[in-house]
Amino acid sequence: MRGESITGKSDRQRVVPVLVPMPAERPYSYSVPDGMAVVAGSIVRVPLGPREVAGIVWDGETEEIEARRLRPISQMFDCPPVCEDMRRFVDWVAAYTLSPPGLVARMILRAPEAFDPEPWIDGLQLTEARPDRMTEARGRILELASNGLAWTRSGLAHAAGVSLSVVDGLKAQGIFAETLIPPRPVVTQPDPTYAAPDLTMDQEVAASHLRESAVSAKYSATLIDGVTGSGKTEVYFEAVAAAIEAGRQVLILLPEIALTQAFLARFHDRFGTKPAEWHSDLPPRMREKVWRQVAEGTVRVVAGARSALFLPFNELGLIVVDEEHDPAYKQEDRVFYNARDMAVVRAHIGGFPVMLASATPSVESQVNVAQGRYERVHLPSRFAEAAMPEIRAIDMRRAPPARGSFLSPPLISAVQETLEKGEQSLLFLNRRGYAPLTLCRVCGHRFQCPDCSSWLVEHRFRGQLVCHHCGHHEKRPEACPECGTFDHLVACGPGVERIAEEVVGHFPEARTIVLSSDLLGGVKRMRLEFEAVAKGEADIVIGTQLVAKGHNFPNMTLVGVVDADLGLANGDPRAAERTFQLLSQVTGRAGRTGKKSVGLLQTYQPDHPVMRAIVSGDSESFYDREIAERERSALPPFGRLASLIVSADTRADSEGHARQLRRVALPASDIAVLGPAEAPLAVVGGRHRFRLLLHGDRKSDMQGYLRRLLADAPKARGSVRVQVDIDPQSFL
Ligand code: ADP
Ligand code: ZN
Repeated sequence: MRGESITGKSDRQRVVPVLVPMPAERPYSYSVPDGMAVVAGSIVRVPLGPREVAGIVWDGETEEIEARRLRPISQMFDCPPVCEDMRRFVDWVAAYTLSPPGLVARMILRAPEAFDPEPWIDGLQLTEARPDRMTEARGRILELASNGLAWTRSGLAHAAGVSLSVVDGLKAQGIFAETLIPPRPVVTQPDPTYAAPDLTMDQEVAASHLRESAVSAKYSATLIDGVTGSGKTEVYFEAVAAAIEAGRQVLILLPEIALTQAFLARFHDRFGTKPAEWHSDLPPRMREKVWRQVAEGTVRVVAGARSALFLPFNELGLIVVDEEHDPAYKQEDRVFYNARDMAVVRAHIGGFPVMLASATPSVESQVNVAQGRYERVHLPSRFAEAAMPEIRAIDMRRAPPARGSFLSPPLISAVQETLEKGEQSLLFLNRRGYAPLTLCRVCGHRFQCPDCSSWLVEHRFRGQLVCHHCGHHEKRPEACPECGTFDHLVACGPGVERIAEEVVGHFPEARTIVLSSDLLGGVKRMRLEFEAVAKGEADIVIGTQLVAKGHNFPNMTLVGVVDADLGLANGDPRAAERTFQLLSQVTGRAGRTGKKSVGLLQTYQPDHPVMRAIVSGDSESFYDREIAERERSALPPFGRLASLIVSADTRADSEGHARQLRRVALPASDIAVLGPAEAPLAVVGGRHRFRLLLHGDRKSDMQGYLRRLLADAPKARGSVRVQVDIDPQSFL
């Protein structure tokens, strides 16, 4: 067993701290029954009130507790202990995000069935005996089974192409002995030498730097910065190879929707096997297997979404964060954390390198490079002959779409030309459904979610009105519920379904497909659709940001952005940066294989700095401006932000508590408290929301300030909840 042992307080009874997966501020004390060899990190089952829960034996002193209240650990699981680095990581994340450590530990304990070892599988092993008579089917079985290995009953029957009864017949004659087969690894071992690429000169310079970091077994943070298609993936795979060779485990983090078949296939091409996957769509049995095999070290490489950061690695030696700028790395549920930033912390604690890759790095990471905290490798151009698409803005004031439509004449002709060349077009609109608002033309009634302050989005394909915040859905009625008039409901504004309708009107012969997360059939279906598009089985793709990430569509030479201004005007300090990143990424889908390609942006603000930067390809001056602007207003990373989000069943309770928080906030020279203000999304899921924003100097002790504020505040009573969001990304 790894880990260090804990000495108890008395010789009689050993008492240890156990962190339980509850909003507990500190570990609880439990006694260790005689003969139970727990160490720090052991996963145990403990009584908690009337229930039993899984917890992790923690470090440090135990709290004094009356002997009669002390309860024993009920069971120690046969599972590798959670390593010291991981325990320090949990403590760190809890302190930084102001979350109870128990809730952070809970993120490790997400696969309870995996705490017990995987069962061995019943198998059959050939004996010396021979059957009474031979048949062709029996012959085939014996031939296969004579390879000396153990087979499962069904595996053998399947491989030999015979029915189970033939296998059973042989077994009855003593031809097979029963045996047990160890659980099968979820993936075979990646081979770092399987298919090493021929790198270009630029790539080789970058790769050798990364390889060196990977084998150094020291903390370092490196930004891999290069346009889409420059070979960032190819290059960081070299670091992955080096880390595997050095006997370390590797974690590649991707935004959930970038964890595509295309990515897994690339990995397979390079290493001869797929990485183990970790994301929300993994079937439960698979989750448990991956968790267990990561803990045991059978799995060497995981490609996962942000929660993979809490997998129980024991030999982690490299983390790659691909698309490091992506807002999907921020979790805004229970424990609010940014997986990109926490990956850097994890690497620091573990003493190993972390690599952040992006074609459009976050302002934060660029400043970290500029100030010498991160190293940087740069890939200046696309691989081989692939040229960047030519980008142009379409000024919608000069080339307006026809009444009731959303595609301008220049974009329609560009699609027409692309069709004629037999190439593919992508029309991008980051809005699911048919229309973002439905209203009654007679009385003006607008369809709003009963539980949120947001409009219901029409999904015409499903015949429903849907709330994108809480999931509430209702059938689209035929008459207005307010005035009762029939057939006078109108859809306002476009979603992808509506654009598809318009496209079919213009190009009825073309093969058109809508790709958004509303596709029925889940990830499997989605992967098939993407493969079909990549193989050229669609002429026009209409998609949300789902298509913007990670896919390689070789024949796609036109990308049209239906509403490039969407997202610029939402009061978010990162709005310009985010729009720039999204538009770069989307237009970067075009021309990945050398064909001449075009990106067209429909915009009402062609002179906006974001549009200018995208059109000119001059990202550097855009970032320079953006960074200067942040510095001037002391916004991150030149200052610190934190939000307090108060919610309650009634508006009065929520506002009242928010005001009380404000009242107890002490004046500070380096932290300003703004608000409370009603949140832009004032009601979500029936809860009324108020926000306070804390704005501090770069060196301010935001956590310390908040801790005192929350301690001084009156206890949240009734339905009132207070959520802390350090480094907020969303201000809704
Ligand atoms: P990025 O991650 O920067 O978008 P990729 O690593 O995906 O770039 O590379 C873009 C495309 O070019 C991929 O299809 C990749 O296989 C190919 N490619 C890049 N570098 C090489 C190389 N040295 N040899 C062969 N193919 C390469
Ligand atoms: Zn709702």
